Amino acid sequence: MLEENETDTNEQGMGFQNPDDPILKERLYVQNLPDEERKNLAKFLSDGCLQYLQLNELNFHLFFHLCSMRTFSVDDKLFGHCISFYNDVKSENKLDSLQGCADCKRALDDYERKLIYTDGNICKRGESFQHGVLFLNEFANEKQMVIVVELSSTLKVHKQSVQKLTRFGQGFSVCSQIRNDCPYIFVSGGKGRSGRDMMEYDVIENKWKTCPQLRCARSNHAMISVEENIYLIGGGISSIVKYNARAKRYSTVGHLEKNISNPLVVQYQKFLYIFGGRTLHKDEEEHDLPNVKKLDIITNVLEGSHDLPVAFSGGQAVLLNDKVYIAPPGGSLICFDPKTDRSRLCAHQNLNRELFFMFVSDNRLCVLGGIDNSEKTFCRTLDRYCPEQDCWKKESEVKTDFPIIASCILQYPRKCPVLPFHKSVT
Ligand SMILES: [Zn+2]
Repeated sequence: MLEENETDTNEQGMGFQNPDDPILKERLYVQNLPDEERKNLAKFLSDGCLQYLQLNELNFHLFFHLCSMRTFSVDDKLFGHCISFYNDVKSENKLDSLQGCADCKRALDDYERKLIYTDGNICKRGESFQHGVLFLNEFANEKQMVIVVELSSTLKVHKQSVQKLTRFGQGFSVCSQIRNDCPYIFVSGGKGRSGRDMMEYDVIENKWKTCPQLRCARSNHAMISVEENIYLIGGGISSIVKYNARAKRYSTVGHLEKNISNPLVVQYQKFLYIFGGRTLHKDEEEHDLPNVKKLDIITNVLEGSHDLPVAFSGGQAVLLNDKVYIAPPGGSLICFDPKTDRSRLCAHQNLNRELFFMFVSDNRLCVLGGIDNSEKTFCRTLDRYCPEQDCWKKESEVKTDFPIIASCILQYPRKCPVLPFHKSVT
């Protein structure tokens, strides 16, 4: 792409070139390199021979800046060459070598995000990814952790430590949202001081932002995102509130009959289905519910439906092939058909899991992590449920303990190869 002669100069004089055109900028930059460096660069790019481009701390920025001007490309010889030099530079000289250049810093940040994302294998642009974002309690050191799991056929686990999480009280809830093709994670409520907090984590910017406070404190509530709205359901109170993430505004959309905690929620078409939960009515003893409630998100009409075969609170629920699968704590599985509002019990899981994560992969339900309360052990298998055969199978062993206190699934938009919490969150 680079030629020794200066054929591009006449293009500048023609008057209709946009001076902000990145290709033109790049050409001008190359033309203005010192002669010797420009010749070496051209030789390097034409035959890839490293002897022509000996990088050192003085000329590194000269060449890396060229990389920062170009569209990021994995196959870029120059970029690869600069990065390997950069990685070899002793850490105290690293930032000096960029000479405080913001463009180059940005290019490096992009690179580092991608690197961490794939454990060293830079992923292709345009692929779509499903991730589990799992908030764990490290019981040993009483720290909250986030684990990000790539939910592909081979699970890839990225362990991320999130210091700021300690601000969320016990019983906080989490959900993800895609807005303008960008992924966000919302965390709200919890016991103690954080009860009225709502935080928005911008995955791309890797930053937490504070949302307006909730009107009432909630903990052990359900959260779900529908387009640009986040619904918060129950959590020690009966109300259902909608938060519009664009307008940053709350509105109450309905009330359950009772104050409940730990309900599950799934969206199907224009309805939110709300399952189970524990009543916290002052006049009654606490008890689990087998209830199904159905909220029409267009009219805000809330109605009851047939009860489930068992009462429960907490657990996980996902949609698979137009059926809702509900896995309460303790290992049972319920299949609910939103077309008929009928439900039935499915085969019991292999383990009596609590605090686990459930997701769909290849038309199977998968459960991961948690603890087996009857055995008092961590669940170290990934189990799969086949709906056609109504049976569970152990899929693989995992090495990590996952006592999951909150989780959400993040469906990455295409062209967004950024991993949540990829470096210390500020
Ligand atoms: Zn630069």
